[in-house]
Amino acid sequence: MIPCKQTAEHPLHWKKLFAKSYVGIKQISDNLPDNSISLDKLDKIDSLFPIQVSQQLLDDHPLDGPVLMQYLPSLQELADLPGYTHDPVGDVTATMQPGVIKKYNHRVLLITNNTCPIHCRYCFRKDFPYPQSNPNTHQFKQALEFCQRDESINEIILSGGDPLSLEDESLNQLFKDIEKIPHIKTIRLHTKFPSIFPQRITENLITTLAECTLNKVCVFHINHADEISQEFCDVVQKIKQTNTTTLNQSVLLKNVNDSADILIDLSNKLFAAGILPYYLHKLDLAKGTHHFKVSDTQAKKLHQQMKNNLPGYLVPRLAQEIPGESSKSY
Ligand SMILES: *Cc1c(COP(=O)(O)O)cnc(C)c1O
Ligand code: SF4
Repeated sequence: MIPCKQTAEHPLHWKKLFAKSYVGIKQISDNLPDNSISLDKLDKIDSLFPIQVSQQLLDDHPLDGPVLMQYLPSLQELADLPGYTHDPVGDVTATMQPGVIKKYNHRVLLITNNTCPIHCRYCFRKDFPYPQSNPNTHQFKQALEFCQRDESINEIILSGGDPLSLEDESLNQLFKDIEKIPHIKTIRLHTKFPSIFPQRITENLITTLAECTLNKVCVFHINHADEISQEFCDVVQKIKQTNTTTLNQSVLLKNVNDSADILIDLSNKLFAAGILPYYLHKLDLAKGTHHFKVSDTQAKKLHQQMKNNLPGYLVPRLAQEIPGESSKSY
């Protein structure tokens, strides 16, 4: 958790909200659709991957609905099934140096921090060894030196955790440092913050984006149209005014969005918000996530139904990450 440090100059509204978002286990147990999970089991689940969900989301959505299903714990997380591992996408093998993951030509991914606005129970990086990869200013320097040395890299992807967990000042500095590397043409942000805490899109952040002369891409992470609020749409407009391309990636999740109607509705509502669907990921097989798995046959069928009912530009690529491959597979 980011500590809540308020000063007079910086009201840090988003942080205040964020700091309040760790809802205790007792409160979660009171907020589960059934009372099936005992406190000791919740404790165990929490120790494997901490439960973190915003109060706003708990207030706004039904407990057994498609939004909270993604963030509320399930007893099924404790099942240990074959094929489900701690590093389903081979992040550790592809780590070049702390916080620097390079799997594909011309693009490098930086783990900017270990903090997310919310914890998605299906997360593929929930067991990522952040302590060894947790960058600080010193490591950003080393990470950027890596990018500087490898002239084949033209795009830096800021990921995490969530890059918008960083302070505005740190992000601004990072953008400025990246801009100094001559062969970098594009900065991409992969972030879940705007849909969970639209307040995170501060004027300072908009200024950072607006001042950056590189190509800019912002990839949101929304899985269901119910996650698209008016406040989110408003900040998307602000981001777009900085000449940033806005895309979305989703994960195909059982009981959340595994229906053609839901996926088609999602694409249409994203488009109405000014966002193009980019990837629809098949679930990465991280430990304790099997209850979200949609079969490959069903995934293909749903994707075909999307193609049959949407213009091509609103059909995301149905993608899977296979460790060792030279691109995502789709
Ligand atoms: C997913 C991913 C990317 C981005 O791949 P695109 O197909 O360009 O979206 C880049 N690097 C790593 C390590 C990734 O996991
Ligand atoms: S935002 Fe991404 S990295 Fe963070 S918990 Fe969700 S899936 Fe994992």
